Amino acid sequence: MITRRTFGGIGLAAGVALFAPVSAAQDVSQGKVKAVATFSILGDLVRNVGGERLEIATLVGPNGDAHVYSPSPADAKKLAAANVVFVNGLGLEGWMTRLVAASGTKAPMIVATKGITARRMEDEDKPGRAVTDPHAWQSIADAKIYVANIRDGLIAVDPAGKAVYEANSAAYLAKLDDLEKEVKAAIASIPPDRRKIITTHDAFGYFGAAYGMAFIAPEGVSTESEPSAKDVAKIITQIRKQKIPAVFLENVTDPRLLQRIAHETGAVIGGTLYSDALSEATGPAATYIDMMRHNIRELAKALIG
Ligand SMILES: [Zn+2]
Repeated sequence: MITRRTFGGIGLAAGVALFAPVSAAQDVSQGKVKAVATFSILGDLVRNVGGERLEIATLVGPNGDAHVYSPSPADAKKLAAANVVFVNGLGLEGWMTRLVAASGTKAPMIVATKGITARRMEDEDKPGRAVTDPHAWQSIADAKIYVANIRDGLIAVDPAGKAVYEANSAAYLAKLDDLEKEVKAAIASIPPDRRKIITTHDAFGYFGAAYGMAFIAPEGVSTESEPSAKDVAKIITQIRKQKIPAVFLENVTDPRLLQRIAHETGAVIGGTLYSDALSEATGPAATYIDMMRHNIRELAKALIG
């Protein structure tokens, strides 16, 4: 059976649409809410809440770095066609302001981190200046706030879908509750004095605060600036002094720096963590839930003595 949904008063009644001279593909896409998410992790959360009612375009794809993205003309087209746009906020997508202006989009913009208590820290490159950590999705409690904001944003642009968005988000939030228990159990299985690792950039502050692990990184909360020789020397001293057992690579950063640090210190390379992007669909972190599971499996594997 063909189901049609109306959006913004422009949809046609089912009977009319069936005889309209449009292809099936066009027909379906015109009935759906066109949503844009800035990066893959956010896109997956939007997909879980919006389900079949949405046609989702993601700007920064799998394994992409959302901090330093260069938008393409195709991205401007996606925004121009959007009915609703989802962004992380907290300074992650610095490139969005120009892209939004260039695209001329009038779609409402939903900030998924609205209501989250942001982590603030001193900018190592500019002492005295605070920077905001954008990686709130790494705390599942915060991811639940993303889901609530996505649900409310979708209901606002597509009130006819309210019951669907509410049911989808409730089901997904229940899965996140289970995931949270899994993560806490996995961390509890690691001896407390081994709950400290090195990553390339400071992407796991929310994870560390939520679940009790120390993450130390030569790069700050953005990947924009390269670490200085001094930063790298500091990390090497810290690994030796604090007996940090493992370093982890990230799917969005160049592995060579940490490979060098591991080589110099004898620290084990624990594996690859997915920090700011999902994997390709066939990879180990194709969804947010799979990503969190993959990360805790890798941490437990390397750190349980
Ligand atoms: Zn990051």
